[in-house]
Amino acid sequence: MVNNDILFDTIDNGIVILDENLNIVAWNYWLEVRTHNKENDMIGQNICETFSYINEKKLKRKIKAVLVTKSPSYYNVDPHQYFIQIPTNSIVEKIFKYMQQDVTIVPYDLEKKQVCLYIYDKTSLCKTNFKLEKLNEQLIDLSNKDPMTQAYNRRYFGEVSKKMLSLSIRNKQNLSLVILDIDKFKDINDTYGHSIGDDVIIMLSNTLEQSIRQSDISARFGGEEFVILFNDSDKDDTYRLADDIRKKIENLTVVSQNENIQFTVSIGVAQFDEQRDKKGIEETIKRADEALYYAKEHGRNQVIKSD
Ligand code: GH3
Ligand code: MG
Ligand code: MG
Repeated sequence: MVNNDILFDTIDNGIVILDENLNIVAWNYWLEVRTHNKENDMIGQNICETFSYINEKKLKRKIKAVLVTKSPSYYNVDPHQYFIQIPTNSIVEKIFKYMQQDVTIVPYDLEKKQVCLYIYDKTSLCKTNFKLEKLNEQLIDLSNKDPMTQAYNRRYFGEVSKKMLSLSIRNKQNLSLVILDIDKFKDINDTYGHSIGDDVIIMLSNTLEQSIRQSDISARFGGEEFVILFNDSDKDDTYRLADDIRKKIENLTVVSQNENIQFTVSIGVAQFDEQRDKKGIEETIKRADEALYYAKEHGRNQVIKSD
């Protein structure tokens, strides 16, 4: 028990007083209500025996330091993010199973070698931070991704390709890219309608995403045109990868609104060349685009390597 009972029992924090052997000297009303442990039952108990998840060594060391330095100290509640396990009670929105806490240890009675632990509930702050982080992720997605396909957009591709390029140069690795465009896509729109056309683009985007490695990046460059950057790949490796993608798409059937749609793509391949592409990846893209144009002019549904 402590002298100032009113303050001790009305404050909106948990307060526990411990002696240097971790025995509980006082346990306030805030803790009684939330843990369903009465102060009378808690007094005299060793806190680490009662709550075995508390790190005894760490707590003892910290209490000792507080008593020696005679000054308050922050107690890190990692890894649980709580000191005393208190389940959160919101049914609607349960982001955290247990109350998230901050703990400060202050000297209480130096002669008796007692310290006071203040336990603060920071769950709502953590919830707000958690939601902010999620919103931030969504914002980043919104600025980096195309909403229809969830593929990266041209702007993001520009940003990432610059980084990938300087990394490849530094590591003396090859970097190649492809530009891919659906053949006669206008006919698909005209025959089945724009909405089915959209589904075809989405299906294509998903197929590309599944066909590349984590270290590669694909992006939607325009209507039904995509670019893929292949890390550590030369022109010939990339040609083979591109042709596999081309065959995969040729054998794909998109089922949309009871229609079975098949389609093909043409692909242009180019490898970054430090001597020729002095202005950067834009010049590589231009050569891949010329190869794509050639593929379109010479029968479509094929992959063409730029020289
Ligand atoms: P080619 O084989 O020469 O590429 O012929 P194409 O008909 O595919 O010609 P092009 O690539 O120039 O045509 C692209 C068409 O894609 C034109 C445009 O109406 C359509 N398109 C662009 N964006 C979208 C979209 O988001 N959804 C749908 N459904 N159509 C789109
Ligand atoms: Mg097209
Ligand atoms: Mg096009």
